Amino acid sequence: MNNYFIILASGQSKRFNSNKPKQFNIYKNKAVFKHSIEKAIKSKLFKKIILVVNNQKLIKEKFHKKVSIIKGGKERSDSSLIALKYIKKLKPINVLIHDAARPNFSIKLLNNLIISLKKNKAVIPVINSKDSIKYKIKNQLFNLNRNNSFLTQTPQAFKFKDLFELSIKQKSNVTDEASMFIENNLKIKFIKGEHLNNKITYKEDIKDDKIFFGIGFDIHRLVKNKKLYLGGIKIPFHSGLKGHSDGDVIIHSIIDSILGAIRKKDIGTYFPDNQKKYKNIRSPNMLKPIVEILDNNQLYINNLDINLICEQPKVSKYRDKIIRSLSSLLNIDKELINLKGKTVEKLGLIGKEKAIACEVICSISK
Ligand code: ZN
Repeated sequence: MNNYFIILASGQSKRFNSNKPKQFNIYKNKAVFKHSIEKAIKSKLFKKIILVVNNQKLIKEKFHKKVSIIKGGKERSDSSLIALKYIKKLKPINVLIHDAARPNFSIKLLNNLIISLKKNKAVIPVINSKDSIKYKIKNQLFNLNRNNSFLTQTPQAFKFKDLFELSIKQKSNVTDEASMFIENNLKIKFIKGEHLNNKITYKEDIKDDKIFFGIGFDIHRLVKNKKLYLGGIKIPFHSGLKGHSDGDVIIHSIIDSILGAIRKKDIGTYFPDNQKKYKNIRSPNMLKPIVEILDNNQLYINNLDINLICEQPKVSKYRDKIIRSLSSLLNIDKELINLKGKTVEKLGLIGKEKAIACEVICSISK
């Protein structure tokens, strides 16, 4: 196992609008470059992992004993050569060079690279472009044929000896090591790269999707001579739910769970029960302005889980109907809504069919 892993983290991130270089920003709960270190260690493929940085002060923690941190050069190719010179004394056979700005490669890709190196001097992961590419020569535009063009990724794997010889000779700056092999007409083995292994270039690339959760609870007393509404539909039953509105415990709990997730107080703030204009309001009309808040703020519901707590009516009988109604009121797919029925062993007010309660948890993303 004479493999070495070089992580280049000395770039200036000119296109990345932040005071810290992108490889030191937090992504998926840790600094971008740490993902590469951890995967390299976990793979057990490497004798040593070399992290090349410009500012060693930015690294405050201690790493695994296999990790060495060295200072890079002005350009990417300078840093790469400094790292190659640094490991030369250790007599490496294989070396992988990786951009710290690609934290999402898999350990499987590392394995594939090492395996392919047995019969090749340079192994490069590539993917097809998802977008069509045009190029321009003297003001004339051309289409790049997508079938014979591809995008190169890192890690790129090499026989140390061959890469070292090329790097020593290389005069101009190159954007990756594969370019040197191409410029010198040397054979490269291309293997399948990974679409998730994209390079973090802009600040938007590492904006984590924030997920928020909210819970809602409601209970209403059952009274004779009132219609029963649950989830926006009328359900045949001996009693209905008493309240300032139609008493729809499902919709009221949903509203509170949404307001909880978006941190906007509670249902009573929007629909005070001492206001005449809300007397006998149908609950779907209370839900509407709340759904509008979501739409206006690019917020969307990931899922809803509902517990309807009652002895009667039986939830299983109305489940599909209620879910269909909620799906249309919330304008979300039916698959995102789950409704469970829960009885209370005939205990208390709910057990004696004098009340119905509901609890809801919802998850919302921006
Ligand atoms: Zn209520």
